[in-house]
Formats: sequence, C-alpha cells, structure tokens
Amino acid sequence: MDVDLDRLFARAASEGAHHRDRVRDRPVHPLPDRVSLDAAFGGELPAGATSPDRVVGELIAAASPGLVGTVGPRFFGFVIGGASPAASAADLLTTAWDQCAYNEVLSPAAAAAERAAAAWTKQLLGIPETASVGYVTGAQAANTVGIAVGCQRVLADAGWDVARDGLFGAPRVAIVASEERHATIDRAARLLGFGTNSVRPVAATTQGAIDLAQLRATLDSLDDAPVIVCLQAGNVNTGACDDLRAAATVAHEHGAWVHVDGAFGLWAAASPRTAHLVAGIELADSWGTDAHKWLNVPYDCGLAICADAALHAATMSYAAAYLTGSGATSDPVLGDLTPESSRRARGFAVWAALRELGRDGVADLVDRCCALARRMAARLEAGGATIHNDVVLNQVLVSVGDPGRIDAAIEAIQREGTCWVGGTTWHGRRLIRVSVSNATTTEHDIDVSADAILAAATSVALGDG
Ligand SMILES: *Cc1c(COP(=O)(O)O)cnc(C)c1O
Repeated sequence: MDVDLDRLFARAASEGAHHRDRVRDRPVHPLPDRVSLDAAFGGELPAGATSPDRVVGELIAAASPGLVGTVGPRFFGFVIGGASPAASAADLLTTAWDQCAYNEVLSPAAAAAERAAAAWTKQLLGIPETASVGYVTGAQAANTVGIAVGCQRVLADAGWDVARDGLFGAPRVAIVASEERHATIDRAARLLGFGTNSVRPVAATTQGAIDLAQLRATLDSLDDAPVIVCLQAGNVNTGACDDLRAAATVAHEHGAWVHVDGAFGLWAAASPRTAHLVAGIELADSWGTDAHKWLNVPYDCGLAICADAALHAATMSYAAAYLTGSGATSDPVLGDLTPESSRRARGFAVWAALRELGRDGVADLVDRCCALARRMAARLEAGGATIHNDVVLNQVLVSVGDPGRIDAAIEAIQREGTCWVGGTTWHGRRLIRVSVSNATTTEHDIDVSADAILAAATSVALGDG
C-alpha cells in the first residue's frame, strides 16, 4: 500500500493539538456511554485491509466521545499531571522513531538522552550523581524495582543469595512502611513473592507521615531480621512527607535498606520553597518517582533510582549470547535497570520536559501547583467548606455540605463538568480529594472549579443532586 506518512502523521499530530486546544473548554469528563463506545470500536474484525488514513479517521471518531480531559487544567482527580508541549512532541517523535531502548547498540541516541535526563533529574532532586536511573512505566514499577534491589542487599547481608536461591527457605524479609503507604508497595510485596504479611505497618501522624517512635519500636521488635523500610514523599491524600532524614537514619542504624516512594512528592526537592519537606532525601538507598505526574511528561513514564548502580544492574539485568552492550557493567544503562526488556525510549520525553522548563521552570511548576492548591483550599473554605489537611504540597482534602451526601456531591461535581474531583476515605470520613499537578492550571481554573464544587454541594443539599 502506498502510504503518505507525512500526511498521516501530520493528521494525527494535528488532531492531538486540536484536542489540547479544546480540552480547556469542554466538560472535563464525558458522559460515559459504554454501549455506543463499544459499538464504535467493536464489530467483526474485517478480513481485509483498511487504509491507515481511514483507520486514523475511525479511531478519532470512535475515541472522541470517550476521552477524559485528564490533560487539561481542571482535572483534579488522582495525581494525574499534564503533558508539556515539548514532552508531548518528543513522545510523538519517540513513537515515530520507534527505538528499542534496551541497550546502547539498539539506540545510542536513546541511551544518551536517558543519561542526560537522569543527570538533570538527580541534580534537581538532590540525589547522589552516582545513582543509577531506570526508565520504567511508573512508580509502581519503580517501587517494585527498589524493593527488589533492596531484597538482594538485605538477604546478601544475611548470607543468602536470593538471585540464585529465591525466597523459599530464605530468612524472612520484613517490609516496614507506614499505614499510609501507597498500595503499590503491597502489590510489589505480592509480585516479588514476599506476600502482604511481610508488610509491617507503622502508625502515621494525623497528617499521614510515618510516626518515628513507632518506626523505631517496629525496627527494634524485628531484631536481626532483614528489613526494607519504605518511606513516602507525598501522601496521596494529604501530600505529607515522611521525615526522610530521621527515618532513614533510624532505618540504617538497624541495617535496613531504605526505599522512598516519591511518585509525585519527590519533586518537592526541586523547589527551594518545598525542599525542606523532603530533607534527607539523599540518604535513601533507592527511590521511585514518576515523570508522568508532576513533571508533566505524557504517560507512561517513571524512574527507578538506586544509590548502588552495580547492585541495581546486578538485580535487574540479564545476559544472553546474542545481546551485546548489556548485562551488569560498570556503566549500566537502559535495560539493565528495568524489569522490561524491550521498551520505548522514554528518555526523550523526560529530556524534553526538563529542557523545556529548565531548573527554575521545574521549581516554578512545583511552587505554582502548591500555591494553586492553597488557593483552592482558601476559596472552598471561604465558601463554607472544611479543609481536612495541612496543604503543604499540592493535595487538598475537603468536606462540604451534608457529610452523608459527600459522594452524591462528588457525583454532581463530576456530572456538571467544570472540573473533576474524586473521593477518598481519610480517618474514617468520606472526603473530596483535590490534586493540582497540571502545568496549565491557572488561578481562574481554580476559582471556577471552587465555585462549581460549592454549587454542586448546594444543589445536592437542596435535593436536586
Ligand atoms: C501514583 C502513585 C504511585 C503509583 O504510581 P504509578 O505511576 O501509578 O505506577 C505510587 N506511590 C504514590 C505515592 C503515588 O502517588
């Protein structure tokens, strides 16, 4: 088939740009109609070919009614982040170039971009420059890698080679983490074969940071057992960060491996205004973070970072006779550091996002989101809502109206379409959860969204919701 790639790609890119242009003015969430979406995408797979141009046209038509404005300025659910112009364009190129970022041989360019973006990221976050950085799908994968590397180390300290002999018969490893840990830690414990019973929850403060006295007590109770301590920078509800310096110090006194889950919160380190929240970050042994959240890189992109580069590579790499330029070396890159073998060249988009913003731009992005979160809290409070957390970062917990009808209020907010917020349960209470992590959000977006949230709560109270 004779394909005009130039026209085809231009059409896809242009449609993407069009989506970005409109996303601000459209309802944030479509009214989901699964039946018609399934009908648009479904049917029999034709026996014959369809022209690429027609496929793209069909895809656009089928997907458009079901697209959520997650990339837009008023999506405050989860911690979604946006997609910066340069990072998005770099991601389009990544697709077009279709590099396999497994090793240097397969893509010298991808390797160089990953090295550069890794160096910049470590500088911004205050992580030792000798640390290794693997480009993974997200913080789930990054946490899994950090815990896997930690397991290798703490079991080696106990005289056990887990890479060779596995966990059967090994000394039991404990994963010590606060009761406010992200659920990805538990999934990592399951996937890696520890089982969730290996997770020892430690009580948290009222804001959701690990309680240091309880951490000490838990570690004391574990005696000489191999321990991985998972700390958190950025609680998904409150934004609270564990006291990394104190907690890492205590953990190291016990010979534990220290992993920090900082999916979005690690980026607090990039701004002088918030860096104190993650002071001591450099003391950890491994870190997991996302580029697709606060850095506004398109999905999916996370970073698995390890202070011991050789151990990181020894844990994650594999060797095969037909592969060169890989396997644990003194300069591990790419596939040596990730659970994936073949994967897309994620470094291009990270490099582009960082290059576009510059050092001050990343700090400003963090500051702006924090300031907008405080503005949201203040506007809501002025309108009669209650704020349930110290807004130290970009997360706000809100209740408004009848406590028994908060989920009805959330549904009304989502249906109305000005903004999108989700719900959560915090200290036994249903609350609205607001996360500000998109670089395009403005003060105006916050103000109209706060008004919409208050109006929806009122309408629910009046019984129209
Ligand atoms: C989002 C998040 C994760 C999971 O990250 P993914 O990118 O979804 O894999 C883990 N921990 C925290 C604190 C998070 O906010």
